[in-house]
Amino acid sequence: MKRSEVDRSLLSPMMKQYMEIKDQYEEEILFFRLGDFYELFFEDGILVSRELELTLTGKNAGLKERVPMCGVPFHSVKPYLEKLVNKGYKVAICEQLEDPKNTKGTVKRGVVQVVSKGTLVDLEFLKEYDNNYIGSVLDFKTKYILTYADVSTGDIYSCNIVKNEDKLLSEILNLNLKEVILADNVDASLIDLLKNRYQIGVTINSEYLEKGYEYIYEDVKDIYFISGIKHLLYYLVIKELKDVTHLNKVKIVSKEEYLNMDIHTIRNLELFETLRLHERANSLIWLLDHCKTAMGSRKLKQWMQNPLKDKELIEQRYNQIETLNNEFIIKEELRNDLFEVYDLERLCAKVICGNLNARDVIQIRNSLRVLPSIISKVEQLGFKLDIANHKVLASLLEQAINDNPPLTLKEGFLIKEGYNQELDELRSICSGGKEFISSLEASERERTGIKTLKVGYNKVFGYYIEISKGALKDIDESWGFERRQTLANAERFITPLLKEKEALVLNAEEKIIDLEYNLFMEIKEEIKKCIFDLKTTAEEISKLDAIISLSVASEAYNLVRPVLNEEHMIKIKDGRHPVVEKVSKVEYIANDCVMDSSIDTLLITGPNMSGKSTYMRQLAIIIIMAQMGSFVPAKSANLPIFDAIFTRIGASDDLVSGESTFMVEMLEARNAIVNATENSLILFDELGRGTATYDGMSIAEAILEYISKNIKCKTLFSTHYHELTSLDQKFTNIKNVHVEAIEENKTITFLHKIKNGAVDKSYGIHVAALAKMPESLIKRAEEILSDYEGGQKRKSIKQEQIIFDLDEKPIEKNILKEELDKIDPLVMTPMEAINKLYELKKLNEE
Ligand code: ADP
Repeated sequence: MKRSEVDRSLLSPMMKQYMEIKDQYEEEILFFRLGDFYELFFEDGILVSRELELTLTGKNAGLKERVPMCGVPFHSVKPYLEKLVNKGYKVAICEQLEDPKNTKGTVKRGVVQVVSKGTLVDLEFLKEYDNNYIGSVLDFKTKYILTYADVSTGDIYSCNIVKNEDKLLSEILNLNLKEVILADNVDASLIDLLKNRYQIGVTINSEYLEKGYEYIYEDVKDIYFISGIKHLLYYLVIKELKDVTHLNKVKIVSKEEYLNMDIHTIRNLELFETLRLHERANSLIWLLDHCKTAMGSRKLKQWMQNPLKDKELIEQRYNQIETLNNEFIIKEELRNDLFEVYDLERLCAKVICGNLNARDVIQIRNSLRVLPSIISKVEQLGFKLDIANHKVLASLLEQAINDNPPLTLKEGFLIKEGYNQELDELRSICSGGKEFISSLEASERERTGIKTLKVGYNKVFGYYIEISKGALKDIDESWGFERRQTLANAERFITPLLKEKEALVLNAEEKIIDLEYNLFMEIKEEIKKCIFDLKTTAEEISKLDAIISLSVASEAYNLVRPVLNEEHMIKIKDGRHPVVEKVSKVEYIANDCVMDSSIDTLLITGPNMSGKSTYMRQLAIIIIMAQMGSFVPAKSANLPIFDAIFTRIGASDDLVSGESTFMVEMLEARNAIVNATENSLILFDELGRGTATYDGMSIAEAILEYISKNIKCKTLFSTHYHELTSLDQKFTNIKNVHVEAIEENKTITFLHKIKNGAVDKSYGIHVAALAKMPESLIKRAEEILSDYEGGQKRKSIKQEQIIFDLDEKPIEKNILKEELDKIDPLVMTPMEAINKLYELKKLNEE
């Protein structure tokens, strides 16, 4: 039965109400509260019963047939919600807005919250190490505006992205946005990609929140950013959360301030998860994260995502690590204190728009307890952190909230004795009544002489006196016993006195529960008043925890303080890849990396498996660690400050569509070449291997030439094409290095040691032998190789010179023509066209 086909005039009043509410939440699954259950009807009921494997039943709603229905118990709704939200559904939660006891007719109901992937605030649903972002994308003529918020922590950001879908996508994936709100002019292909390829929730909406929450953007002048913020706020406030007063002022993220890394680089370097298993274990963040709080872990991750470029800020972090390394006793004490601090950021969000319970408040209280101790230690260290002690709030919570409160707010036991006089009085009435009842058994036994008389309680009949069958005959009418219930071997009675006391107890209990709930709500309001100060404290604590974590890592992994230079020079002594070093079973071989101002490119040769890509990754990781303010794995390190890292290492990571591996390789290489500046780092691992040898070699050489002549940025370039190693004679800024390997009795030993100069052998067949290929196959490969080396090698070099000797004028003209022939202006973006034109002009000038 379809909801749209129902004759509404026949429906029961409750179902009419359901229909009216559901009409406003067509896209969401509506959880409709009925007493102790959320009920789901029509298509929602069918869908959810299938998704959650619940029984599909029916409900009488005034129609001939029963309406399809399934139910979820209110008390254990969370796991059900979590499953649905993780599957990408949005759930609208419709509550009873008045107490059914005090209402005649249909209880008023309304949606209090919409839960979706991007707007979760309940801690149970969230990964503690990760931010949970929801974002909005506005598409303008020349740029995108990406605005994103983590409503579970209150952080909101906005940034500009150049009009390039790849860049936008890369940023969305980098931030791991769970949901994106797109204006309706955004390209359909992007919507499809986000939804179907990356399982990101997409909502199309072009409305803006024109009124309210102006404080979030009061310091922002740029109207594009303001539009982005209003666009996101509309969705958050109108559609989902209603109240977001815990959101901070927006931070405008200027990509210029940070070391730039695209999604390929972040993935290839395994900063946050491993490439193969997508696990945090064995990633760089896993290695460095020794934080005691979830807030610290998230802050450290943000630092790693955004390594700094400002020397002074970087040095400040080094100084703090140095201080902490010297003050190890204070550091350990601080770590113990931090262990007591809960996730204050997310607790603050829960205060505003989540289901705050008394246990959450206890977590806030316990966190506040250790603040004075943290503050005094931070002062001893001389760190400037704005951590307040929140004395007033702390003492309120100490006095008010019970130590072991229940999870729900409607059972009482929330508020401490001595906090509220009325509550104490009600409690004493209640316990007086209860005492009377419990002493009644003894006194009634004495009065009646019936030894087996019992006083008990059940939900239906309340308090009763139970007399066993055998003693019934002894009952005297003057005792005033009134029969209530007959059991197999006993009868239950009440007396007027018992009922009177019972009424007293039950009445007081009900009042207590209401009063405790109201007092709790008042306390919640008090916490709300302190929310911004609490959030500042939370932010500062996260920084403290993150820097302590870096200090702990620096000692655990023997890291050293880098020196930062402005001479465009890299001088690393005994550098290591910290994760490989930690997880590898064999001893890690440290390597130097020396590139003074006159050397821009290291051309790395060496057999497969010798450690070329590890060496390249090692350099990038040392640089990222240095710029996020961490000490680095080396004996000493002197580094310039980089503005970007570009990589083409390892397996291709095709973000956009089914491009061929080689095409992806070329796109990534192009991205590096077009965007790199003199201050960037490029890592190219065996570029060109995805195509035929001569093609690949030519492209690799042309790219190397281009970088050495035009960009002059620090570059590590590993290659199998030994022919390229002669380039150092043509370009003084290219230097050959190789990874050492020893060949003995047809086996090969990798020394993983970087040495000056090139090797002229690839050892590919040795590696095949190591992989235990059949012996006959290896033999055949050796025969073929010797044929090649004997006869065809010379030919190959000649051929290469013919095609790529760019110094020969006539051929150069041909290249220009060939390039022009390849161009199809109809499929190029304006940006690509400009880049192509630029390349052609360069070619013509050479
Ligand atoms: P290549 O890029 O030359 O094929 P890799 O960098 O992938 O080689 O390294 C191959 C293996 O050698 C990896 O398992 C890696 O752990 C190990 N390895 C690389 N460099 C070192 C090193 N410096 N010390 C110890 N083991 C290393």
